[in-house]
Amino acid sequence: MYDIEQYYQAQSVADAVAALGRDPAAMPIAGGTDVLIQTREGRHAGCHLVSLHGLGELQDIRWEADGALVIGSGCTFSQITRSPLLQGRVDMLCQAVDQVGSPQIRNMGTLGGNVCNGVTSADSAPSLMAYEAELELQGPQGARRVPIGQWYTGPGKTVRGHEEVLTAVRISPQNYEGFSGCYLKYGKREAMEISTLGCAVLVKLTADRSAVEDLRAAFGVAAPTPVRCPRTEAMASGRALDEALVKELGQSVLTEIQPRDSWRASRDFRLQIAKELCRRAFRRAVELAGGEIRA
Ligand SMILES: Cc1cc2nc3c(=O)[nH]c(=O)nc-3n(C[C@H](O)[C@H](O)[C@H](O)COP(=O)(O)OP(=O)(O)OC[C@H]3O[C@@H](n4cnc5c(N)ncnc54)[C@H](O)[C@@H]3O)c2cc1C
Repeated sequence: MYDIEQYYQAQSVADAVAALGRDPAAMPIAGGTDVLIQTREGRHAGCHLVSLHGLGELQDIRWEADGALVIGSGCTFSQITRSPLLQGRVDMLCQAVDQVGSPQIRNMGTLGGNVCNGVTSADSAPSLMAYEAELELQGPQGARRVPIGQWYTGPGKTVRGHEEVLTAVRISPQNYEGFSGCYLKYGKREAMEISTLGCAVLVKLTADRSAVEDLRAAFGVAAPTPVRCPRTEAMASGRALDEALVKELGQSVLTEIQPRDSWRASRDFRLQIAKELCRRAFRRAVELAGGEIRA
């Protein structure tokens, strides 16, 4: 049963912010693929919903004059994967969100919902962490930007204020130009599967493609919130592309993640796949960047 006491369709972002401000019990709903499932399960009994669905100002994908890519929070996963502006620039994100659920979920679920639910298993999260995305919020005091590294405060928790609407996700050119990346998700089946563990590796190679200039490694479901691995990243910087580095990467990330036991998988199993996914994602990212890993 859907126990929804009030439903308000916002006419604009400003209208949504005002509606949230008027009602401390109200919560936003975009695609509803989390909210409605939870409502049916009785987790939001008597809820008050403020719908952002269909707001044109949240569905824009722009390439700004300074090279920043700006993705409206209301963009569905399908829109992101198919976007000619994003393809070839942030391929890892396009590829990651194409692994969400099923075609129906990808047609309804939004990037904003995936970021705002605050969960560590969100398939967009490791890529957004690696791209150092900034989150644009609109609230009663105006707009603000939050680096995604400061977004998550705990499982299912973020710094978003009650009245704030996430309007867009911004990726600056210095965080995608010259990078190639790969997101690998482990699940027991290909579709309709929440991630058991997800790993995004983004690399920029030196001009002669013989060494790592910049590497970013981020995980989902390897800690209570999505995480980056800064010590591993520093270790890899400037290193030659060889098997020793591949081996070390896998070992090093294990010192920076804290997976837990759950009904999906044990901590030990997650550690094992984190090591393996990181190595595989690195190999693929290097290949995409035109590099070669030597013995
Ligand atoms: C069958 C099924 C399979 C799934 N598989 C996956 C999967 O493989 N990978 C994955 O990552 N997820 C999966 N999901 C979860 C879900 O589809 C995603 O989290 C999706 O991104 C949620 O987006 P939404 O627009 O539907 O969010 P909603 O359900 O509308 O909202 C989710 C949360 O975000 C808040 N919110 C939404 N938009 C905004 C905004 N603009 N500003 C402020 N707050 C906002 C809402 O208040 C709510 O707390 C699955 C869900 C289902 C039902």
